Amino acid sequence: MSLTLNIATFQGDGIGPDVINSAIEIIEKASNAVSGLNYEWNYIEAGASYYQKTGMDVEPDGEKKASEADAIFLGAIGLPTVRKKDGTEIAPHLRFREKFNLYAGVRPVKAYKNTPQRLSDKNAEKIDFVVLRECTEGLFYTAAVHNRNKIANNDEVEDIMRITRNTTTRLHNFAFKLAEKRKQKGKLGKVTCVDKANVFKSQALFRKIFNEIKDDFPNIEADTCYVDAMALNLIRQPWEYDVMVMENIFGDILSDLGGGLVGGMGMAACGEIGDNHGLFQPAHGSAPDIMGKNKANPLATILSGSMMLEYLADKKNCPQANEAALIIENAIEEGFNKNLLRPFEFGGDMSTTEITFQILDLIK
Ligand code: ATP
Repeated sequence: MSLTLNIATFQGDGIGPDVINSAIEIIEKASNAVSGLNYEWNYIEAGASYYQKTGMDVEPDGEKKASEADAIFLGAIGLPTVRKKDGTEIAPHLRFREKFNLYAGVRPVKAYKNTPQRLSDKNAEKIDFVVLRECTEGLFYTAAVHNRNKIANNDEVEDIMRITRNTTTRLHNFAFKLAEKRKQKGKLGKVTCVDKANVFKSQALFRKIFNEIKDDFPNIEADTCYVDAMALNLIRQPWEYDVMVMENIFGDILSDLGGGLVGGMGMAACGEIGDNHGLFQPAHGSAPDIMGKNKANPLATILSGSMMLEYLADKKNCPQANEAALIIENAIEEGFNKNLLRPFEFGGDMSTTEITFQILDLIK
């Protein structure tokens, strides 16, 4: 059966168009290798450059188009030189998290051969975990985009940490189901709840709900760790972790640490998933320092695209999309194993287009 998937596509700013175009070529090629999978890339204008031209951060009807799509694919949005009158960045994608209720931020961290190993321990080549970051509440609940913080005066500002049973229950269930899928692929199959339950009541609720849910998944190992201890453990023995589930700001910080462990931001893929919508984008920004130079590492976006295919396989009940995702992952693994992928980002000699051609070749 042939299926056409409608993808709301935001190329955005800086290196965004370069990395999105690279990923689309690769998704198309991998999908041609499995039958019956087609795409309608529905381009939507948004971001800092668009704001400069029009005064709007997304084209009219852009959010409606995104809400109707099967998935949202985004390059990078925002430029440091472009600000709104109140000084804030152009960041419509942060609004999407709340609008589309994208509570589960999936940030995989995997070590590939021939990429920089930041840790001298030989086990570092086994690093393969996911930071599952809650994306709609926690300490970001009062971030500027929501205008919910309490500004008493020039010297006193309060942000609050919001944890709800509703979101946390869905998040922990997502974590265990993700661990089940990873276990089927031969990974550890373990969930660690990362929190600060010994200090904050909101965090104690987060852990309480975790402990209630874990019994529904007896085949998955479950443990808990305070966030400060986890910062230590992620340097000492990151290879011992699989899925780590945590509140918004903890996930923001530990996922960057994870990116650093395995190379850099050009390897950091990201999926933001809710019950009805999914947004896939690299975890890095628009990297204005290298824009227009063909120097961006497109792998974070390609890996985000592969995660999008896995999401679509479940959502649209099309197993071919899982096959296409596997083709992409295998090509990248083979490319690194044979030292055929050498991004400028790690001191290599390959441009965005050279990396793209190499992966296309490996798929062939
Ligand atoms: P944001 O706050 O929007 O996430 P940022 O300020 O954290 O962005 P990035 O745009 O992610 O910054 O860039 C941080 C550094 O990482 C820059 O030096 C940039 O060139 C580099 N970088 C980011 N993405 C890539 C990439 N795909 N390939 C190569 N280098 C990258």
